[in-house]
Amino acid sequence: MDDRQRLRYSRHLLLNEFGEEAQERLLAAHALVIGAGGLGSAALLYLAASGMGRITVCDGDEVDLTNLQRQIVHSLDTLGTPKVDSAKRTLEGLNPDVDVVPYRERLTSENIDRILDDGWDIIVDGADNFPTRYLVNDASVWRGIPVVHGSIYRFEGQATVFKPHEGPCYRCLFPEPPPPELAPSCSEGGVLGVLPGIIGSLQANEAIKLAAGIGEPLIGRLLLFDALYTEFSEVKIDRNPNCPVCGDSPTITQYIDYVEFCAR
Ligand SMILES: [Zn+2]
Repeated sequence: MDDRQRLRYSRHLLLNEFGEEAQERLLAAHALVIGAGGLGSAALLYLAASGMGRITVCDGDEVDLTNLQRQIVHSLDTLGTPKVDSAKRTLEGLNPDVDVVPYRERLTSENIDRILDDGWDIIVDGADNFPTRYLVNDASVWRGIPVVHGSIYRFEGQATVFKPHEGPCYRCLFPEPPPPELAPSCSEGGVLGVLPGIIGSLQANEAIKLAAGIGEPLIGRLLLFDALYTEFSEVKIDRNPNCPVCGDSPTITQYIDYVEFCAR
């Protein structure tokens, strides 16, 4: 670290539990953030501010006015532009130490291996749909990359860390997606604007801890947040030995595109 970096990260360096070594590990870490929406906005801002060395953002959408109620990495200045470019502009304005790599595409079974070949230490999953969530889960198990999971619905959110073979994966909890007619709509659901900020910040916290090698990650623990009542609760979640992906006898060994979801 140079003098300017020691100054920028001085409030980290002052923490006994953090210090220079943890900051160096953070500066050398690579995070892949899926989605530059509500969860991604909060996670991206804190990851960049904290000095996560390389951040790839994957999102195929453009910024529209309805996004600005909660997607705080974007602004009026970037309406109509790709979200990944808008996010890159904001993050580079915040911290030039961070290398921000935009992938303007929606994650699919076709492109996920190409994107993951870049060698990521951590995946922050801010996807708003089931097909992406299952793709990310299966890829992360096969490649041994921890996933910091977050999701929101109306006034409720949840977060956990899926670390392959040390704790459960998403399919240990939900082996298959719900039938499309029972799944919440991917784009039309209402959500309290501040909620993805809270859950996305929790995801940043977990990603920073994993990268810096400090604290106890949320492995095997599902953290639930109720914004209306303002209540956190925690549920213990176990690895399922019969899990179709990370279990003892996996039955899913290649990507599945759950394309029937999110037909708009
Ligand atoms: Zn599993």
